[in-house]
Amino acid sequence: MSPEKSYHMTPEQFRQHGRAVVDWIADYYERIETLPVLSQVEPGQVRQGLPAAAPAAGESFDAILQDMNKVILPGVTHWQSPNFFAYFPANASGPSILGDLLSSALGVQGMLWATSPACTELESHVLDWLVTMLGLPQKFLSSNSSSGGDVIQDTASSASLCAMLAARERATNYRSNRRGGDGKLVAYTSNQAHSSIEKAAMVAGIGMDNLRLIEVDERFAMQPEALARQIQRDRQSGLVPFFVSATVGTTSSNALDPLPAIGTICRENGLWFHVDAAMSGTAALCPEFRYIQDGIELADSYTFNPHKWMFTNFDCNCFYVADRKALIDTLSILPEYLRNQATESGAVFDYRDWHIPLGRRFRSLKLWFVIRHYGVEGLQYHVRRHIEIAQQFAEWVKQDERFEMAAPAPLNLVCFRHRGGDESNQLLMDRLNRSGDLYLTHTRLNERFTLRFCVGQTHTGLRHVQNAWRRIQEEAGKL
Ligand code: PLP
Repeated sequence: MSPEKSYHMTPEQFRQHGRAVVDWIADYYERIETLPVLSQVEPGQVRQGLPAAAPAAGESFDAILQDMNKVILPGVTHWQSPNFFAYFPANASGPSILGDLLSSALGVQGMLWATSPACTELESHVLDWLVTMLGLPQKFLSSNSSSGGDVIQDTASSASLCAMLAARERATNYRSNRRGGDGKLVAYTSNQAHSSIEKAAMVAGIGMDNLRLIEVDERFAMQPEALARQIQRDRQSGLVPFFVSATVGTTSSNALDPLPAIGTICRENGLWFHVDAAMSGTAALCPEFRYIQDGIELADSYTFNPHKWMFTNFDCNCFYVADRKALIDTLSILPEYLRNQATESGAVFDYRDWHIPLGRRFRSLKLWFVIRHYGVEGLQYHVRRHIEIAQQFAEWVKQDERFEMAAPAPLNLVCFRHRGGDESNQLLMDRLNRSGDLYLTHTRLNERFTLRFCVGQTHTGLRHVQNAWRRIQEEAGKL
């Protein structure tokens, strides 16, 4: 018999190309500051650089890697540039990239404990570490006799959706899953909450009209009295309040909702209390910033994103629940083909029951690599440093009379504006971003165009923020 034909990459080829890719990555990080942060391509330009049809015959790895430089890189906005101050960051780091590579290599699909016990157990264990590292309540632990639990989700959007689904089922005694909703459930969040809460209301069948966007105070934080009044009004109208989502660090301005007051209202009214700390939760690694989550002991669920500001590659969201049974009973379906002894024994977690998808990657590997590489001390150091530098930036803004602060800056997001009005701010931002020297984005606060400057990219240091401020001042001088 002739030897079996194969198009696969041999281990030896993999070794060789793998080294080339690792070198490519190291070179990329060495030269990233020379690249324009915001991609400068025109719409359609990337596609024009690609052949109309897929290659019939396989190509050399060198040719593929060359096109990475020629076709792909110009169309990349460099989220890992230390001059990236836009949106919230999407951190990457050496240990995380390598952990993710190993996850790709193992290619595990960890839907059940039995389909790779390490995938499930490392995840529970590392998320339990984080409970201690962040000073979260013990009720979120998956270990010991706690009835809570923790799981990695792809994004905070999915975590908040799962929280809302579990709350929906708890409120309807698991009837909604069987019969669908009756349009009476009402959810609450502030008018500054992330759009993912609105999306959750749409997807969970609650309906946008049944999501109340509660007013905020002058610091853009939810007003608990307004929440209590709205709940009262809804009850009087025969509706059924069931869920409140508070935010620790809103996307627009980093506002901190008052968790103790909101949590108390939820307790008094029997509502599920969810806390979205997608970006700012990481600050709680440092004891001096843990005040941001005061009141978290009242929460039924909590979520934050190591893929934003904890040096862990997208995607990696941590989701905690006080009552894992409510979550599992909401999302669990056991078809015959997934039945197995470990599941039947009840001694293991099958994470497919903790989120929407069935399949799941071995995402805890990269998180584990990050925590072990940096140690708690290293993570705290870099988080503190980002906050310190952002605070320094805020001071410079305050000292320049052409500018004003647009919101308090409790952590690492500075919202500010040029006093010249909306058009000047838009122009200033566009010119800075077009220059490629830095990238920042905007929001609207009190109806006014506001610049957002977030210091959270893994490698951002004082030098980068000094340069950014110099460039902002230069462009402001040309307005
Ligand atoms: N919640 C807050 C407060 C956010 O700032 C964001 C994203 O910026 C999200 C949720 C959504 O995050 P994800 O992309 O993980 O769904």
